[in-house]
Amino acid sequence: YEAKNSAKAVVEFTGELDTTTPLRIAVLSGLDQALSEGQLSVVYQPLMSTATGLTGGFEALVRWTHPEFGPLSPAEFIAIAEMGEGIRKITDFVVRQTLANLKVWRRIIPDLHIAVNISPRVLLDHHFPEIIEGMLKEFDLPGESIVMELTESTLLVDPVRAVEIINMLGEIGIKVEIDDYGTGYSSLAYIKSLPISALKIDRSFVADILTDETNQVIVSSTIKMAHTLGLQTVAEGVEDEATLMLLRKYGCDMIQGYYYAKPLPEKEVVGWLKRNV
Ligand code: C2E
Ligand code: MG
Ligand code: MG
Ligand code: MG
Repeated sequence: YEAKNSAKAVVEFTGELDTTTPLRIAVLSGLDQALSEGQLSVVYQPLMSTATGLTGGFEALVRWTHPEFGPLSPAEFIAIAEMGEGIRKITDFVVRQTLANLKVWRRIIPDLHIAVNISPRVLLDHHFPEIIEGMLKEFDLPGESIVMELTESTLLVDPVRAVEIINMLGEIGIKVEIDDYGTGYSSLAYIKSLPISALKIDRSFVADILTDETNQVIVSSTIKMAHTLGLQTVAEGVEDEATLMLLRKYGCDMIQGYYYAKPLPEKEVVGWLKRNV
């Protein structure tokens, strides 16, 4: 019981990656079993058009309900899985689930797309575009049905190869967006040189936009500059209407956050679409 509670405490209350925690051991040794036993699932958070208030797409977010530790935070288990091959297995699972669902949900919205998060090790594999193309064929879906979210740090691991692969993804029709924009060190001059379609402005800038003037300037100028460069903008972490209104005033294109919806379990998505399209 104690081990259970302390592991859970680690999961919930520390942001650090202690390599000796029960969590690390559980992730590294338990992933295969978790996948085969259905402990992993994917939830879908709506991305809403700021102008119309209608659903423009979803972000797929992985969940792991561990039999011993309970729900694990993806922020933590992804970071551990990224140390090894586990991240490929997780990504494979998330993309397959997403494509299987898109097959069904596209009957309701024909041009629906879902964004998936892609880690450096996964993106930078030369075979990655081929693997994705194979999966799209398997499900008979166009590249346009998925979007890939990469962080600035992913690009900086190997900028040359990253551009090559993003271009290959583009040839399949897959759009790429920069996730958590503003938390890394890439300049807009660098971003401009990349074949990407949108910036997702990090929640840390959006959350206190009503009271923090510095973040107001950062967010409003990022939106302006992104538009000048022909990029769409998405704001993450919008939790109230006043924040939404301010972002609308700034011209932000899409909104993601608890104000509209928390990530939805798969079985709630069709109902959501029927109410919000
Ligand atoms: P992210 O890609 O930036 O995803 C957005 C996170 O913000 C999600 O947390 C989402 O639930 C949360 N969020 C959205 N709106 C709000 C809001 O209004 N308020 C607050 N407080 N939070 C909000 P989640 O699902 O815990 O995921 C955390 C991170 O884990 C993700 O950040 C992403 O970096 C990573 N992750 C999740 N699923 C995957 C995956 O399948 N593959 C990879 N590589 N990473 C993933
Ligand atoms: Mg993301
Ligand atoms: Mg994000
Ligand atoms: Mg984030």
